[in-house]
Amino acid sequence: MRTKTNFPKALYIHIPFCESICDYCDFTKLQYFHSFAEKYLVALKKELNEKVTNKELDTIYIGGGTPTSLNDEQFEELLKMVDPLAKSVKEYTVEANPESLTLSKIKLLKKYGVNRVSIGVESTNNQILKSINRKHTFEDVKTAVDNLRENGINNINLDLIIGLPNVSFKMLEKDICNILSLNPNHISCYSLTVHEHTVFYINKIEEPNEEYSYEAYKTINSLLEENGFIHYEVSNWSKPGFESLHNLTYWRNEQYYGLGLGASGYIDNIRYKNTTNFNKYISFKNEIEQEVVTLEDNRQYEIMLRLRTKEGIDVLDFKDKFGYDIYERNKDVIDDYINRGYLLTSARRIVPTFEGMMILDKIYLDLA
Ligand code: SF4
Repeated sequence: MRTKTNFPKALYIHIPFCESICDYCDFTKLQYFHSFAEKYLVALKKELNEKVTNKELDTIYIGGGTPTSLNDEQFEELLKMVDPLAKSVKEYTVEANPESLTLSKIKLLKKYGVNRVSIGVESTNNQILKSINRKHTFEDVKTAVDNLRENGINNINLDLIIGLPNVSFKMLEKDICNILSLNPNHISCYSLTVHEHTVFYINKIEEPNEEYSYEAYKTINSLLEENGFIHYEVSNWSKPGFESLHNLTYWRNEQYYGLGLGASGYIDNIRYKNTTNFNKYISFKNEIEQEVVTLEDNRQYEIMLRLRTKEGIDVLDFKDKFGYDIYERNKDVIDDYINRGYLLTSARRIVPTFEGMMILDKIYLDLA
C-alpha cells in the first residue's frame, strides 16, 4: 500500500486562451472567446474534482496560454475553484501577459493567495515585440511589475526568449539590463524553437544555432551572476531562495497533477497527456495518452531531469531507488567530465557546471 508521501504535491492547471497568437507559439492555445472560456471552466472543474485526490499540495501553477486573458468574472471563478486546494501551499504561481495583468486581476490574485507571478516579457524592445505579434510594450511590463509590488506580490518571474530574429548580442545585453532594472526574483530565458504550423515556420525563420545559443547563455549567465542570481537550472536563474518550487517538482522527477487542455501529469507511475482537442475536452471526452513508467524508464528520467539543475543527482538517493551507485558504475566517464570542467561532485551529488548544462544531452547519453 502506498504511503501518503506518494501522492503528488504539485498541481498544474492549463488555461489555453490568448488574446492574440504570437508568431512563434507552439503551446496548446486558442483565441479567447467568452463562451469558449465559460464551457472550458466547467470541464476544468469536473476534471479537478475527479483527479486531485490529495488536498495537501505544496505548489500550484496556473499556466497557459494566458490565464489573464479570462475576463474578471471568469478569472475569479478559476481562482475560486482552486481556492480549497490553495490554503496551505508554499508557492502559488499564475502566468500573465503584461497587457492583461490589470489592477483588478492583481487584486484577485492577492485575494486568493497567489504569491508568485510569472510574466511573459520575451523581449524588452518594442519593435521586436511588435514584429512577433506580442501585444505589450516594455512600459506595460514595468507597470505590471509596479502594480504587483504595490499590491504585495513580490515574487516575480520574467520570461525572455533567446534568438528571436533581428536581435543582436548588444540588444540581448540591453534586454537583460532592462529586466534587471525591474529587480525580479527569478528570470527564465528559453532559446527559440521553430515549430511546424507557426508563422515563424511558414516564414522560414531559423532557430539560433548551437554556437549562438551557447554565447547567449554565457552572456546572460555572467550578467545575472554579477547581479546576485544563481543559475539553478539550464534556462532558469533566481535570487537565493527564490527557485521555482513548482518547476523543481518536474526536474526532481516527482509526481504532479496536470489539468486542462493538453496538460501533462505524472501520477502512480503513469505519465499522461490530456487531449489537445478543445471540443472533446469541453464535452468531457478527454482522451488521455498514457505512458506507463517502468523502473528502467524512471531511471532514465531521473538522470535526464535531475542533471538539469544545480541539485544534480544525489548518489545515495539514486542507489536507494535504482539499486546501484551511479558514480561507481560510471567512474571513468564522470571523472573525465569532472576533469574537463563539465561536472563536479559535491556532498555526494553529481552536479553539472555551467559548461555541463550546455551539453546535457551528451552527458545524459553517457550516463543512461
Ligand atoms: S501569449 Fe503565450 S501561449 Fe499565447 S500565443 Fe503568445 S506565446 Fe503562445
